Amino acid sequence: MTLPPVSPLGRRVIGPVARAGERTDRPRVSFEFFPPKTEQMEENLWAAIKRLAPLDPAFVSVTYGAGGSTRERTHRTVKRILEETSLKPAAHLTCVGASREEVDEVIREYWDTGVRHIVSLRGDPPPGEGGIGGVYVPRADGYANATELTSAIKGVAPFEVLVGVYPEKHPESPSLDHDIDVLKAKVDAGATLGISQFFFDIDAFLRYVDKVRAAGITIPIVPGVMPVTNFKGLVKMSAACQTTVPGWLANLFDGLDEDNETRRLIACSVAAEMCAKLQEQGFSDFHFYTLNRADLVYAICRVLGVREAAPAPSEAAA
Ligand SMILES: Cc1cc2nc3c(=O)[nH]c(=O)nc-3n(C[C@H](O)[C@H](O)[C@H](O)COP(=O)(O)OP(=O)(O)OC[C@H]3O[C@@H](n4cnc5c(N)ncnc54)[C@H](O)[C@@H]3O)c2cc1C
Repeated sequence: MTLPPVSPLGRRVIGPVARAGERTDRPRVSFEFFPPKTEQMEENLWAAIKRLAPLDPAFVSVTYGAGGSTRERTHRTVKRILEETSLKPAAHLTCVGASREEVDEVIREYWDTGVRHIVSLRGDPPPGEGGIGGVYVPRADGYANATELTSAIKGVAPFEVLVGVYPEKHPESPSLDHDIDVLKAKVDAGATLGISQFFFDIDAFLRYVDKVRAAGITIPIVPGVMPVTNFKGLVKMSAACQTTVPGWLANLFDGLDEDNETRRLIACSVAAEMCAKLQEQGFSDFHFYTLNRADLVYAICRVLGVREAAPAPSEAAA
């Protein structure tokens, strides 16, 4: 008997990827964007939003620059999404380097603008103080961590609060169990959904979710999926975030430094296959780190069976 080929992720290729065109269970997707710095970047962002919006994401999130450096730009972007689209924006907010009063003011500004979803995060120490994984020293007059921030957000208004989770452990954390205790505290403070750090070790992610459930935490844990085209950049970022870069991923990109097109095709294929494997394990929600580019994520969504919603009968007739 000839067995089907084994994919780099160790899964035999007979599952949802091969049958993607036939799937009727439509996964729910969400997209992360970052606030643009220049006019050109703003154009790119809006081209990406326009391409991805018809896929009817559960929400779109907008990051908050390190140390709160994009406060105004994040707010402007979220406001424009609310004004010009029917998307649900989830504004990221960090508490690093800000007083409680300053953070409360941003929370109130979001609520007054019409934002109802916040991704509540602590933030990383500034680059001068070690950056990601460095020693974090909370401000005496600030919120110390994402749990305190989540409580503060819920204290200002009845936002939906989303939080970050780390399938391979947060770099500063002594253990995964400690991280799960921290997640429990965030849920007790009002968080209703966890978005994961990017990862490539699916087994580690599945083990993490098992531990979360064993701890009695029931909020959805949505895998954060990052289509990788810049492998060298990924290696750097993964070292800081302490996420595993598996050997098979390195093999796939080996020798392709000058071949952007093939790297992009591989990025799409790897991400789609990861999602398919997670779907087989019962996951139906995926959060994509878009880096403000629509093409790869759009293609991955198509492979997963996520399509533009059919036009309403009146629009179709027009
Ligand atoms: C989905 C996602 C989106 C992100 N978006 C942004 C963004 O827009 N802007 C940005 O600057 N950063 C962003 N980050 C990065 C994030 O700010 C960093 O990972 C940061 O180091 C930790 O944030 P947190 O919210 O997980 O912190 P926390 O949940 O506060 O945890 C941070 C560390 O402190 C420990 N800890 C927490 N509470 C306690 C306690 N009571 N006692 C002891 N230890 C404790 C935890 O175990 C962990 O090691 C994002 C991360 C993710 C996963």
